[in-house]
Amino acid sequence: MVLKGFSNSHHDFRFPEAVFLTSRFGNPVIQIGNYRFSKWSGSTGAKTRWICIKDHKGCRAKLWTYDEVIIKYHDNHNH
Ligand SMILES: [Zn+2]
Repeated sequence: MVLKGFSNSHHDFRFPEAVFLTSRFGNPVIQIGNYRFSKWSGSTGAKTRWICIKDHKGCRAKLWTYDEVIIKYHDNHNH
């Protein structure tokens, strides 16, 4: 599933390359270029937080989706 691009008042983020995938463990992931994000287990409702899969290595990058549209992306990867 291809995510629609999204612009907000602070940044003009567009992610035509962002795709929903399922990991080999059966968990939902979003891939953007070389980065992958896993769904944060505490998310509820239509707004969802996703954290970089390198979170355990200290990466703080994360993004949020609403109805399968990326609404915010903190791309501060450390890798
Ligand atoms: Zn990262």
